[in-house]
Amino acid sequence: MTSISDITTPSVKDTTKLERIGAHSHINGLGISDTLEDLSAGAGTDASSSNDAASSLRSSSASSSAPGSGLIGQVKARRAMGLVYKLIQKGKIGGRAILLAGPPSTGKTALAMGLAQQLGSDGNNSSNDKDSDNDIPFCSLSATEVFSLEVSKTEALTQAIRRSMGVRIVEEQEVMEGEVVEIQIDTLSGGGGKVGKTGRLTLCTTDMETIYDLGTKMIERLTQERVTAGDVIRIDKATGKISKLGRSVSRSRDYDAMGSNTKFVQCPEGELQKRTTVTHTVSLHEIDVINSRQQGFMALFTGDTGEISESIRTQIDAKVDEWKTEGRATLVPGVLFIDEVHMLDMDCFSFLNRALESELCPIVILATNRGISAIRGTNFRGPHGIPLDLLDRLLIIPTAPYSVDELRGILRVRCTEEQVDMADDALELLTRIASGTTLRYAIQTIITSSLIAKKKKSNRVEVPHIERSHTLFFDVERSTKFIMEYQNQFLFHELEDDGIKEK
Ligand code: ATP
Repeated sequence: MTSISDITTPSVKDTTKLERIGAHSHINGLGISDTLEDLSAGAGTDASSSNDAASSLRSSSASSSAPGSGLIGQVKARRAMGLVYKLIQKGKIGGRAILLAGPPSTGKTALAMGLAQQLGSDGNNSSNDKDSDNDIPFCSLSATEVFSLEVSKTEALTQAIRRSMGVRIVEEQEVMEGEVVEIQIDTLSGGGGKVGKTGRLTLCTTDMETIYDLGTKMIERLTQERVTAGDVIRIDKATGKISKLGRSVSRSRDYDAMGSNTKFVQCPEGELQKRTTVTHTVSLHEIDVINSRQQGFMALFTGDTGEISESIRTQIDAKVDEWKTEGRATLVPGVLFIDEVHMLDMDCFSFLNRALESELCPIVILATNRGISAIRGTNFRGPHGIPLDLLDRLLIIPTAPYSVDELRGILRVRCTEEQVDMADDALELLTRIASGTTLRYAIQTIITSSLIAKKKKSNRVEVPHIERSHTLFFDVERSTKFIMEYQNQFLFHELEDDGIKEK
């Protein structure tokens, strides 16, 4: 069995990173405050952009995105997701399942991505991202990915579940001279009693002496000076005088200050020791893979994990339990997001039902755009294509169709994201197209009309460019009309008995 120190895998929140302009790359969070207020209320501008050309389009927004979040409208669902976020942050409750249900293009995936981004940004708060103790795993898959020739359906689901369960491992490390270290310390208690909250401590020093200096006496002084978690202070080595500098400190500045008569300390909480602790968060799946075979570590990169035996998983669970008892590890239930959940079949639903009862289960978020439809693997139909017993366990969050203002807001944010400068009347036309067709079709028209504009040597998209794109590319309704018109000329025409009218 691999020891704790052998496990140094990449951060498990990598799945939340969006590096290209993708369908949801404008989403940066849920845009909901701690008290579940909609942060977009009263916000006049969208803060998510840096695109000057398009920024002028934002100022007149009737429905702006929550500052920095990129999400528009859908406030009730965002509030509900805000509560889910709190549930996850508490980290004590796993095995809860949420269903995002609503018509196509009403932002179900966008909401899940918002949650992932918010969880990811927690992890990034720390100055040492890789060893952050806030990493909460987020694993996203489409239901169809479960059906593979390489592994069984239940194995694919088990892997996804264990990918979403983090193990936060605490390791002791010796502080070396000249190192910048982060120390997690529980409380700051000294002569004046408890000060500040539990938090992260960053100690920047060039010599070991500094670390020894900051002992119990130091805590007494911090208490007297009312230093609380997050404060950055300067300590004059000669006089021992403490002065508060503010609430953040940059590493380069810390280093620059070294060698002078000052030291910088951030977030003092608790007693400093010579030995310090660092934390890594790895997923249960990563531990499984590493231990599943020789060179298991390589399989993490290739993704070629194959089936992992039950006995390996039992051993891993026992080991993690042992680490938990010794206080060296804690379990971090993360999030498993399964899109298009109606594509799962009865075997998968039964499996999920049972998995939700296990202690080692993350928060499961399912999404579907289906109404009453067939439950795969049975002859029955059910709401959302999901069996009633599973449905009964779910907290259901509905997503509603967007108003015209909201559609305009979303299109504006997308223009900014795609760095497209669009004239106001062109945006109005695009908004009308979105309400007459679908939001997705309108979003796709942004880039096509921008390419048409460029061909016409214009840096700004105007009404004729949108109109041109509209004639070149069909939406679903026009495509269906087209099929009807030329039905006899298409191959395999089966309109009479298949479900084209079902949508
Ligand atoms: P489907 O049921 O077809 O899978 P969906 O409900 O998951 O659809 P999304 O894929 O989330 O819909 O949304 C379609 C597009 O619109 C995406 O590019 C998404 O980022 C964007 N979008 C949807 N809702 C919002 C919103 N409230 N704010 C900003 N962008 C949004």
